[in-house]
Amino acid sequence: MTYTTLIVGGGIAGTLSAIALRKAGIGSVVHEAYDRDADNVGAFLTLAVNALDALRTLGIDVREIGFETPRMALTSGSGKKLGELQYGAPLPDGTVSRTVKRADLYRLLRRHAEELGVPIEYGKRLVEAESGGGRVVARFADGSAAEGDLLIGADGLWSRTREIIDPRAPGVRYSGLLNTGGYARGVSTGAEPGLMCAIFGRHAFFAHLTHPDGEVWWAANPARKAEPTRGELAAISPQEWRGHLLDLFRDDEGPAADLVAASGKIFSAWKTYDVPAVPRWHRDRMIVIGDAAHATAPSIGQGAAMAIEDTVVLAKCLRDSPGVTAAFTAYERLRRERVERVVAQGNSTGGWKGLGPVARIPRDFIMAAALKRMERRGEDPSRWIYDYRIDWDQPVHAGG
Ligand SMILES: Cc1cc2nc3c(=O)[nH]c(=O)nc-3n(C[C@H](O)[C@H](O)[C@H](O)COP(=O)(O)OP(=O)(O)OC[C@H]3O[C@@H](n4cnc5c(N)ncnc54)[C@H](O)[C@@H]3O)c2cc1C
Repeated sequence: MTYTTLIVGGGIAGTLSAIALRKAGIGSVVHEAYDRDADNVGAFLTLAVNALDALRTLGIDVREIGFETPRMALTSGSGKKLGELQYGAPLPDGTVSRTVKRADLYRLLRRHAEELGVPIEYGKRLVEAESGGGRVVARFADGSAAEGDLLIGADGLWSRTREIIDPRAPGVRYSGLLNTGGYARGVSTGAEPGLMCAIFGRHAFFAHLTHPDGEVWWAANPARKAEPTRGELAAISPQEWRGHLLDLFRDDEGPAADLVAASGKIFSAWKTYDVPAVPRWHRDRMIVIGDAAHATAPSIGQGAAMAIEDTVVLAKCLRDSPGVTAAFTAYERLRRERVERVVAQGNSTGGWKGLGPVARIPRDFIMAAALKRMERRGEDPSRWIYDYRIDWDQPVHAGG
């Protein structure tokens, strides 16, 4: 089947969808709300091995950006070692998970899309879409419209497509955690390059990892039970924010406070959300994928990975199914159980991060015991997340 596809959102899921569809022989146009350079944000993310494997299926190698992140070490704020884990087993050729700057990843994906000749239109914010008679029409905030055979909503956490498909779709869920981070030089953390060090601190969660060039990349999750408004967050000056983080990490063992102090610029705080199960992923000729369908709490480090896997599976379904409805049905059958399990796990992992001074004592004890048991038995309960593989050549109707 060959289609003309409208893709809404030019982030990870949107850009990769276009690339995956091209591989399946299906044309598309990406419509991104923002201008070209708007994604030049400072944060970073880790692409676990399952994400790297799915990217390879599309011929994308990310080794030119970021650095290897094969393992993570967990400690408590008192400096007690809770355990160490693999960030997924290496791929057969030894490839391990990789941490990359978000802006570098976006640039790399867009370069691939452009090399394939995928049109990306910027400044196109979807406001409405109508589907019927085998066609779909998308309308944008600038007054323009586009028509195609199907529409893929890859418009992220605050997806407009999700609302259009189902006006009763659940909204986002605030996790009680804020996010921030930065980059520091001149601080020795004592950790080998690439080791993801997670500190379940006395007052907040902190993670750091050292680039082979010596720069330390860090992130922190101050807990804020009541959801602050955007205005309240924006009103916190950079100095106040730095002072607050120093207060939070001053009592902890490890380099957290030193890293905060040594960072030239600290990312302004943003709120963490997920989206609980979205009952309807598709209607007529419209479907949501990536964060628009199943935003995962960042704590599990799998949101982008799920979005990447989605794009490969959806392209296969459209390639192999006799029509759009059959393709969407096959896609949901192949994806829903897995992504909902990941969202649930992300939600419970995030819960560990925001605990107060009393609850953190049993938490550290339980975590250390569980990690020790896993190490002793050589088990990894997260294997099912990392070991997922997609065989591009296996037809979908055969269960692939
Ligand atoms: C702090 C933090 C850390 C994270 N760490 C990790 C990690 O380590 N590993 C991992 O795998 N994942 C991580 N994630 C999750 C990951 O960032 C997301 O799951 C991923 O970006 C989702 O990709 P997406 O393309 O679905 O959505 P996005 O990347 O959000 O892209 C959506 C795009 O749609 C555009 N858009 C929005 N609305 C419209 C509209 N109406 N019309 C047109 N365009 C629109 C947006 O501008 C954007 O470009 C993290 C997330 C956070 C917040």
